[in-house]
Amino acid sequence: MSDAALIDLKETIRSIPDYPKTGIIFRDISTLIANGPAFRQAVRQLAEPFLDQKIDKIVGIEARGFIFGGAVADLLGVGFVPIRKQGKLPGAVVGQDYELEYGVDRIELHKDAIAPGERVLLLDDLIATGGTASAGVDLLAHVGAQLVATAFVIDLPDLKGADLLRGKGVMVHSLVAFEGL
Ligand code: AMP
Repeated sequence: MSDAALIDLKETIRSIPDYPKTGIIFRDISTLIANGPAFRQAVRQLAEPFLDQKIDKIVGIEARGFIFGGAVADLLGVGFVPIRKQGKLPGAVVGQDYELEYGVDRIELHKDAIAPGERVLLLDDLIATGGTASAGVDLLAHVGAQLVATAFVIDLPDLKGADLLRGKGVMVHSLVAFEGL
């Protein structure tokens, strides 16, 4: 992609203060994906470092990770595997709890969705504290996947989620960063 043609993706993401609660700025990718050229650019930039990485599967985290994950899987010509919230997948699953500010949540992956040793890329729209992505990394380790990298449209670096993943030896690719919460 030549620089001249590049869209500033940050400009296409809507920021909504005090949602879902006071003090949080919600980074809304619905305005990015409604913009055809911006969506296409985001998908290409997510996939770009992995074009020659022999990826077998894209793993996307519910729900916004599905939007980008399906498109990146199509671009790379590989399969897509969903990680879902507890109780949504119909087959036998492996699950992983992760901490929320108040309480615990759980994500699940079909046990047979990834063969041991398959090379996977884990994708979500945004990384904040890294709790969700980190639980996804643990699930993938559980089924014996070879995690090539994680990729996000948005990083909130002040919340240190990307640092958390890098500390676990996981590569993190992201397209734009917003300071603050
Ligand atoms: P975390 O587990 O803290 O890294 O949070 C990541 C998940 O929460 C992602 O699936 C995001 O979609 C969502 N999320 C967290 N913070 C925000 C935010 N400020 N704006 C939009 N989505 C967010």
